[in-house]
Amino acid sequence: FKGGEDTERRGQRVTYEDIGGLAKEVQRVREIIELPLKYPQLFHRLGVEAPKGILMYGAPGTGKTLIARAVASETDAHFIHVNGPEIMHKYYGESEARLRQVFDEARKKAPSIIFLDEIDAIAPRRADVHGDVEKRVVAQLLALMDGLESRGNVIVIAATNIPDLVDPALRRPGRFDREIAINAPDQRGRREILQIHTRGMSLAPDVSLDRLAAITHGFVGADLAALCREAGMYALRRGLANYQLSEGFVDDDLQLKVTMRDFLDALAEIEPSATREFAMEL
Ligand code: ATP
Repeated sequence: FKGGEDTERRGQRVTYEDIGGLAKEVQRVREIIELPLKYPQLFHRLGVEAPKGILMYGAPGTGKTLIARAVASETDAHFIHVNGPEIMHKYYGESEARLRQVFDEARKKAPSIIFLDEIDAIAPRRADVHGDVEKRVVAQLLALMDGLESRGNVIVIAATNIPDLVDPALRRPGRFDREIAINAPDQRGRREILQIHTRGMSLAPDVSLDRLAAITHGFVGADLAALCREAGMYALRRGLANYQLSEGFVDDDLQLKVTMRDFLDALAEIEPSATREFAMEL
């Protein structure tokens, strides 16, 4: 089965075709990033400052990482993924040095995109933190952003679930001064995402992606990917239960297809992230 994990499995090579329901958002990111990344000399010649940073915000699993990876591979830029909590904890005591290394690498291998996932962990509002370490890391990130030449060949994309947790100094001009909301998909978006995650699957004729999109209110991209994977597992289990695995067994004998029933069974098991968050608040 090629299913929900499709985009993950191909590793770095994510294309715009792998992103569902975010046409406008992707368009905006492209406008901001592609031009300076591809033609930095234009900005230089005109004496215009190219953007250095974009802040994407929205619920988990809506496709922020996917967008960053797609822009990087579509522009052939070097991609560095930095996970906020990891740089703070795994590299505790060396977080600032690690950040400097990342920016160095980006400069050397330019054009580059640095993706700072969960930036609120690296750069929380300084007014809210007490520890010196945290304050120093925020200051380091600010200095690194300011030190980036605005030539356009290194762009930093940051992502957060809650933009208000990010230190406001980072959101000023010349830093992360473009903000893009990545919202949970509407029905049409869900239809597009389901289409993407089932495109490698062998579907029975009764599968209606329209209907699935209609009954998955509150599901984000990551939930829909999980739904497709799980439906595939249902089909597989059903298939294996129906066939005796004998020596002469060949895959083709299984004639397996994923049916609407498989999707509905899977649906009963998957709770959308929106509900989970709601439950956590209660
Ligand atoms: P987090 O805030 O948790 O890091 P995120 O917004 O970065 O989440 P992704 O990591 O991009 O979310 O999404 C996780 C997976 O869910 C993707 O690899 C992809 O399989 C699927 N997915 C999420 N959004 C979409 C989308 N808009 N279109 C297609 N697939 C999606």
